[in-house]
Amino acid sequence: MAQKRDYYEVLGVSRDATQEEIKKAYRNLARKLHPDVNKAPDAEERFKEVKEAYDVLSDEKKRAQYDRYGHVDPNQGFGGGGGFGDFGGFGDFGGFGDIFDMFFGGGSRRDPNAPQRGNDLQYTMTLEFKEAVFGVEKDITIPRTETCDTCHGSGARPGTKPETCPACRGTGQQEIVQNTPFGRIVNRRTCPQCGGAGRFIREKCGSCRGTGRVKRQRTIHVRIPAGVDEGAQIRLSGEGEAGLRGGPPGDLYIVIRVKPHEFFERDGDDIYCEVPLTFAQAALGDEIEVPTLTDKVKLRIPPGTQTGTYFRLRGKGVPRLRGTGAGDQHVKVTVVTPTNLTEEQKELLRQFARLSGESAYAAANGHSGGNLFERMRRAFRGE
Ligand SMILES: [Zn+2]
Ligand SMILES: [Zn+2]
Repeated sequence: MAQKRDYYEVLGVSRDATQEEIKKAYRNLARKLHPDVNKAPDAEERFKEVKEAYDVLSDEKKRAQYDRYGHVDPNQGFGGGGGFGDFGGFGDFGGFGDIFDMFFGGGSRRDPNAPQRGNDLQYTMTLEFKEAVFGVEKDITIPRTETCDTCHGSGARPGTKPETCPACRGTGQQEIVQNTPFGRIVNRRTCPQCGGAGRFIREKCGSCRGTGRVKRQRTIHVRIPAGVDEGAQIRLSGEGEAGLRGGPPGDLYIVIRVKPHEFFERDGDDIYCEVPLTFAQAALGDEIEVPTLTDKVKLRIPPGTQTGTYFRLRGKGVPRLRGTGAGDQHVKVTVVTPTNLTEEQKELLRQFARLSGESAYAAANGHSGGNLFERMRRAFRGE
């Protein structure tokens, strides 16, 4: 067979095409080249080529593998169902819907030579509060297995190749046929020569002792997007452990932990904080400065503000991880009672108490205002 064409070229899409684009390109080509429609002599051949390209590029794992390793030896396959022979030519299907189902349902046969995907890895990353809010880039070092550079994963000493097991001809299984009075009985068992691997390595690679993989400390650059929160997971595709027999690598999952902040608290995209007010500020009103995640803003405190009141600073919260804009900052004010009063201050307060009586509180509403005096008075009266 001639040199295989690049799958992206076959479908006429760019290397960074989305799944949507790949699917669309495939549908168009499949419609044009389907042997029921297209009677050109090479139509079926081209249809197969297109179908094969789609099979690989539509599957993220296979695509990643293809991007890394290019065309895989057809004898090794991708672990999925075999070639076209499996479903007896075209024209048997009612319509295109059926074909799509047939093509993409994909059962997989167990093949000892099939490439095997590498394991996923998990790494817990602890971020400072503001790093999670605004995003950050970090280098992390993780131990992982990688494909052996010496043998490129084959496990065989450079210059040699793994050989197909002659006992089972690569199937990894042995058939034992018995002729009995009741008929022929076929038993299958794991090939004792190769232990089911279907191949053996005559001379092992010294670097990996024949496994095709080696342990490494690998430094990886990680970009954490703005707005991540405690427990978020970031998937780094293909940064997990190396696959086997040319299989794609696993993924690396970064699990996010966030350190608490001494002033700000976070709930989703919203930020909460508490600021102190003096009794005079709360009673007379004031304009105060409140720190935000990025700088500070002025906040007007109206006269007669009760302790525990919340003020909202729109858009001063956490940038939204998906979408645009940001959450809000909620500022809770707490009136702080003075503790170190001079004799003069005390005297002024006594004077204030004599002058104010209850009338100063009568109009106060809100959750801890004058209504509270009224409610308590009713409780004293046993109401
Ligand atoms: Zn090796
Ligand atoms: Zn064998």
